[in-house]
Amino acid sequence: MIAHYHCVNAIAISVLENRDALIAERMTALPDLRWATIPYRRPGTPLALEIDRVAGDRPDVLILYNHGIIVCGETVDDVRARIDRVTSALSMPKRPGTQADVAALNQLAADSEFHAAEDAESHKTALDEASLAFATGGSLYPDHVIFLGTEIGILADGETVAGFAAAREPAGKAMPKLLLAPGKGVLLANELTSGGRVMARCLAEVVSRIPAGQTPVYLDGAQEYELTHWEAEQYRQALDRKASLKA
Ligand SMILES: [Zn+2]
Repeated sequence: MIAHYHCVNAIAISVLENRDALIAERMTALPDLRWATIPYRRPGTPLALEIDRVAGDRPDVLILYNHGIIVCGETVDDVRARIDRVTSALSMPKRPGTQADVAALNQLAADSEFHAAEDAESHKTALDEASLAFATGGSLYPDHVIFLGTEIGILADGETVAGFAAAREPAGKAMPKLLLAPGKGVLLANELTSGGRVMARCLAEVVSRIPAGQTPVYLDGAQEYELTHWEAEQYRQALDRKASLKA
């Protein structure tokens, strides 16, 4: 039995520069479990090949850098208990945040294709300086890139979404799916799918667990590129399959 999930604690700890030492120290709490770390690879074959390299040692826990975690066990109960133990060993405290100013966000979003995030916790990304800086410094993990893209917009003080959009128009730049109004909260593109909305919450949970003053290890440009283009390729293949079924 194998469980793979995107634990926000595991992601937050695995993007830190000193992750090797920190994870080793935390995992001493679970001396009965064999564990290994996996460097970041694109999900799919590259990640599977990297996992295969350590599979011979039959690890119980794999911590996937900039991605999440894999926990193995004999039975479902076994795995469930291990997930609880690993999660608490790797837990990262959340920075307490303030409340979103939904009224102000609604005003900023007037006459735009954006709205204030419905989920209260999703606003945390914009509600303290450290979280905002971590979120906008780069892409931290692959699902974020796939659902929300590589750019997060920041509204200048007093700038409305309509103003932000108008300023980009001459350059023909597409709008980001997530806009941060510093100190006020998070605005989401109306077109965002439910998967995208969950990823906005995930981002808030991850960045609020990265300790202030750290320099996270972001995905590099090539890693972002292969994700955006890999997904396009998958989508293209899905359309192709549909088309060939109709033919
Ligand atoms: Zn995954």
